[in-house]
Amino acid sequence: MKRLKITDTTFRDAHQSLMATRMRTDSMLPIAEKIDRVGFFSLEVWGGATFDVCIRYLSEDPWERLRQLKKHVKNTPLQMLLRGQNLVGYRNYPDDVVKKFVEKAAENGVDVFRVFDALNDTRNLEVAIKTVKKLGAHAQGTVCYTISPLHTIEHYMEIGRRLAELECDSICIKDMAGMLAPKEAYDIVSAFKKEVGLPVHLHCHYTSGMAMMTYLRACDAGVDIVDAAFSPLAFGTSQPPVETLVAALRNTPYDPGFDMELLVEIAEYFKSLREKYYDPIHLIDPIAERSDTSILVHQIPGGMFSNLIAQLREQDAMDRLKDVLDEVPKVR
Ligand code: MN
Repeated sequence: MKRLKITDTTFRDAHQSLMATRMRTDSMLPIAEKIDRVGFFSLEVWGGATFDVCIRYLSEDPWERLRQLKKHVKNTPLQMLLRGQNLVGYRNYPDDVVKKFVEKAAENGVDVFRVFDALNDTRNLEVAIKTVKKLGAHAQGTVCYTISPLHTIEHYMEIGRRLAELECDSICIKDMAGMLAPKEAYDIVSAFKKEVGLPVHLHCHYTSGMAMMTYLRACDAGVDIVDAAFSPLAFGTSQPPVETLVAALRNTPYDPGFDMELLVEIAEYFKSLREKYYDPIHLIDPIAERSDTSILVHQIPGGMFSNLIAQLREQDAMDRLKDVLDEVPKVR
């Protein structure tokens, strides 16, 4: 019996993907203790765009959000997404800034650090990962998944072996665009389990509609942990839904063993929260909520796609969308 572990992303990636990262701390705290009771592997609550959006748009202190969540979540580890040498910003920072930031994040409540570099350049992960290890926190090295002639299983294994050398505690396969198909997931997870030997954490977006099938095949290949979000903030460009995943795995060796009544109770909270964020300000983007199979051709992640459309509109060039989408794979 190998229970599947699950990370809940509702407080980070789910609202970053569906509603431009605008969920406020006071929407999180009332339900945090209940989520803590579920038995998740971790709660992804910090990093990515949350830091920037707190300051730029919500007039909130991201550090205070982290401390508040830590107060309410006593049993489940808190997780953050760290962009390697870029931290939570959009340029590379000097090593001393990286070290200090990681130290402060751990001190304020982060237990699991998922560290990635968009180009899979492990040199950009080293300082952050070494600092996490030194602090005794969980260092999760990341492999970003994409489809290109360069991105072979051997390429992913090379990165995986380097992450093992850096003494990572686990490896994340990050399918940020939602393009990982079930068969490829089976092959990559199997290869990681066999050749690298670290626990494998799979992060998929629902964008193309494949993620649930992909998770199921990843289970067959021995995946240890997957990411999901509560159903009212799942689907579309977000993660697959927690409750559905748990129900689908019932009576299988992977059954996470969660209390479905508790899950549904929490989902009810997010259902009403959705209303609050939808009306009258429409923070939930209807385009982001749909499955979009064109991702399988143009490979643009959801969050980037909505920005691209906004930029084209600003330039009164929406009629050129198809030209742009044709150009993107050529440029890549
Ligand atoms: Mn993501």
